[in-house]
Amino acid sequence: MSITTQRLSENAVDFIDEAHINDLLDNTQGDVVRVREIIAKSLSKQALSLDETAELLAAEDPAVIEEIYEAARSLKREVYGNRIVLFAPLYVGSYCINDCRYCGFKRSNPDAIRRTLTMDEVRAQVKVMEDMGHKRLILVFGEHPWYGPEYIANVVRTVYDVQSGHGEIRRANINAAPLDHDGFKIVKESGIGTYQIFQETYHHKSYAAMHPPMTRKSDYLWRLDALSRAMEVGQDDVGIGALFGLAPWKFEVMGLVAHSLHLQNRYGCGPHTISFPRLKPASGVKINTRLAPDDEMFKRLVAVLRLAVPYTGLICTARESAQVRREVMAFGVSQIDAGTRIELGGYTEVGDSQCLEKEQFTIGDARSLDEVMGELLRDGYIPSFCTACYRLGRTGEHFMEFAIPGFIKRFCTPNALTTLMEYLVDYAGPETLAAGEIAINAELARMPDGSGKTDLIERLNRIRTQDDRDLYV
Ligand code: SAM
Ligand code: SF4
Repeated sequence: MSITTQRLSENAVDFIDEAHINDLLDNTQGDVVRVREIIAKSLSKQALSLDETAELLAAEDPAVIEEIYEAARSLKREVYGNRIVLFAPLYVGSYCINDCRYCGFKRSNPDAIRRTLTMDEVRAQVKVMEDMGHKRLILVFGEHPWYGPEYIANVVRTVYDVQSGHGEIRRANINAAPLDHDGFKIVKESGIGTYQIFQETYHHKSYAAMHPPMTRKSDYLWRLDALSRAMEVGQDDVGIGALFGLAPWKFEVMGLVAHSLHLQNRYGCGPHTISFPRLKPASGVKINTRLAPDDEMFKRLVAVLRLAVPYTGLICTARESAQVRREVMAFGVSQIDAGTRIELGGYTEVGDSQCLEKEQFTIGDARSLDEVMGELLRDGYIPSFCTACYRLGRTGEHFMEFAIPGFIKRFCTPNALTTLMEYLVDYAGPETLAAGEIAINAELARMPDGSGKTDLIERLNRIRTQDDRDLYV
């Protein structure tokens, strides 16, 4: 049932054809010859269709699954190199008019400690995050009339205003409720990066069971259509996601791919990122986690998504343990959060122990940013805080430039290295500093000589020896 009378996107449709998806999931064999053809298509960096995704999901033979993993690893290396982009969430407000059965912020949870940060409190949180070394945030809001587009835009401007030493936030992403066209326009004008909205579940019946009738979020189509409305007003940097555990996991993978294809076909560009959080325990929440994929299934879904949408960033948050995150980074995850605190005010007010009443769910990886940086470097990754593409307008449709051969070598790796150098000089502990210097030298040694390399070395030296920051190409 629709309770929304507001305007949807032009020719809005419910593009989740459940009968078709179920038919594909029920009647696809995971035939080895066909799986290999599909892997080859993906390795040539073409997005997969729903039929092809279903074929990969149907593979059950361990040897074939291993081929899928290997392909995902190699695609990730080719498209993203060894970079991992880092960010952190900032929870701004926990008031909520909805009653999502899985969420600690739901309105019927009497134990939730409700709070909205004042602008001064936002500044204080951001300062601490900058002092840790963060450059990219995602601002998270419950759904409430207080958190309208003007308010969100105001928070974004406040965040960008905070400077602490060499620290600044260069990209603020948003995870908040669906807006109407005007709302997305207002928030876009404040200079956000990605607007992220998770459909939670693409499965209609499960969606209805999780979002009680007559709550705003019960309107499946209003939510499914949200990022199409964003696209229509030029907010072409969008993130989709599903909360795994509410419906069969293969169905959700198909839903995510269908959503991605819909945006690509209709607006000429797919989502910038896909998230696939698994359901976690939360205050006041009793839900059955029977449908949540176990660790093995989780790895498979990441590998299949990597192959299905070669150019879409995959995000794995600190809901997952350090170990699981480490594994899925090899298969395709390109962005993680680190040093994460999800209690309201958590970056300044509480220690390491989690307080379920103050937060939305429990997290699995509560390590500091510096610990995560150190591990990434020792594992051969280049942690990156780069924000160059979106600041130079390389988003949305133009983000497909990413597909240009040599783009990573020319832009992404050098920018990752300069942001890493900033972190090392300004924030790193001694072990991370040592590991970082080794990693930068190894990257430089791998680069062919030429003006690109000379210019990069010059930028790195300016950061190391002077106050110059934010040097990117
Ligand atoms: N209120 C907005 C909304 O619902 O879209 C945005 C913020 S909500 C706080 C962010 C996301 O957290 C939700 O979209 C949902 O997927 C996820 N979430 C909620 N409860 C969760 C739980 N128990 N475990 C893991 N993730 C959860
Ligand atoms: Fe509110 Fe979002 Fe939590 Fe639902 S998931 S209860 S809308 S904060």
